[in-house]
Amino acid sequence: MKKIVILGAGTGGTLVSNLLSRKLDMKEWEIIIIDKSDTHFYQPGFLFLPFELYGYHKESDVMKPIKKPLPDKARFVSATIQNINHEKKVVETSSGNFEYDFLVMSMGCSAETSEMEGLDDAIEKGVADTFYNVKGAMNLQKQIGNMKEGKLVLNLAEMPIKCPVAPIEFVFLADYFFHEKKIRDRVEIIYVTSLGGAFTKPQANEVLSKVIAEKGIKVIPNFNVESVDGDKKQLKSFNGETVDFDVLASIPPNLGPQVIEDSGLGDGNSFAVTDPKTLEAKKGDSIYVIGDNSNVSTSKAGSVAHFEAEVVVENILREIKGEKPIPDFDGHSNCFIESGFHKAFLIDFNYEVEPLKGNFPVPGVGPFSLLEESTLNHWGKMAFKWVYWNLLLTGHLPGDPLLPSHMSLKGKKIPESMASH
Ligand SMILES: Cc1cc2nc3c(=O)[nH]c(=O)nc-3n(C[C@H](O)[C@H](O)[C@H](O)COP(=O)(O)OP(=O)(O)OC[C@H]3O[C@@H](n4cnc5c(N)ncnc54)[C@H](O)[C@@H]3O)c2cc1C
Repeated sequence: MKKIVILGAGTGGTLVSNLLSRKLDMKEWEIIIIDKSDTHFYQPGFLFLPFELYGYHKESDVMKPIKKPLPDKARFVSATIQNINHEKKVVETSSGNFEYDFLVMSMGCSAETSEMEGLDDAIEKGVADTFYNVKGAMNLQKQIGNMKEGKLVLNLAEMPIKCPVAPIEFVFLADYFFHEKKIRDRVEIIYVTSLGGAFTKPQANEVLSKVIAEKGIKVIPNFNVESVDGDKKQLKSFNGETVDFDVLASIPPNLGPQVIEDSGLGDGNSFAVTDPKTLEAKKGDSIYVIGDNSNVSTSKAGSVAHFEAEVVVENILREIKGEKPIPDFDGHSNCFIESGFHKAFLIDFNYEVEPLKGNFPVPGVGPFSLLEESTLNHWGKMAFKWVYWNLLLTGHLPGDPLLPSHMSLKGKKIPESMASH
């Protein structure tokens, strides 16, 4: 039997294992998928837990057993991946070694509270946490739920992070939450970010910054956080500026898996050096990279892993037939941005195209509105949880047919008519 080993059974790994198990001759191929966790988390749900909004109250609302969405035909191994010997094509784990013909790296990235001085102490003191993991999201639920007045500060330490719109959604949802509790006038919401503005993409930043201002949310840009003081309840920057808080929601540095760096496949920050179009690892043969553990310059998002999966699977199948991989990934990403009050924005972009106004998935028709707030967008985001578990992970959510036409043009100039209503 020839072997495909998939490292990580999160969004990207699960999707690729489902697609490959249907497309490969399983009498000839064995698919082995390795993960250290026994749980698969629906991470977009972490955003709602601190506010108990839209039916998200407890941990079990965002998780399933890790094996649940995996194909029966694949073999799951519960183990920590310790080394990738790409010269010998062997993965070393806490449960033994696994040889491979092809390797897919899908180990994600993680928000590390220990990377920010004083944050773990502030978490222990019950005045801060991160909503980038389930435990932190539940702690914030208590801390924010107890607030009657004061300052709720959201701090983004540095890029890259998973889901770059999540900080904006967090402050929008906080605004909605305190409105509903009728104490919005007593709670100041402050977004303290290392970025020059609320968001990385200029056009979307302009639209979103206007809404942030309308909602009375204060933004402190260019704040490079040095440390957190849990006793004084204060953030300090490298320039000596300080921001006081009553509750701190932190997005600490998001790091790639150390094993990528240690195995000589990383970019210096533990993200795998990846060809942005074919998604091959640049530092090892017969290795593909999908999702957050890659260093390609698009968002770290489940939608990106979804679009990347098509290219990764296609290219593995081509290599098996002796053909060259095709450079077909265009950086496509899309994301709903919850804005509270049962409304949301939707943005859609790729390596070359900024988020534009228009409709999605059918230009001029919709039903979703791009770069605009709508109730339908909100229901799209709510429905996405079901879509994630039932269609996306199982490999039944189509890729290309759902793309708006301007994205399917793959690198060609976008006609003005498609870029607007
Ligand atoms: C708060 C928040 C909100 C988000 N909202 C959205 C959204 O609205 N839309 C969207 O598209 N995306 C969103 N995302 C991002 C999305 O969840 C991720 O981009 C996506 O899950 C990435 O998939 P992945 O396969 O790369 O990594 P993951 O799904 O994180 O999976 C990685 C897997 O690798 C395993 N692993 C790692 N290292 C090892 C090791 N050494 N040994 C064994 N196993 C290992 C882990 O246990 C994990 O199961 C959000 C993320 C967060 C945190």
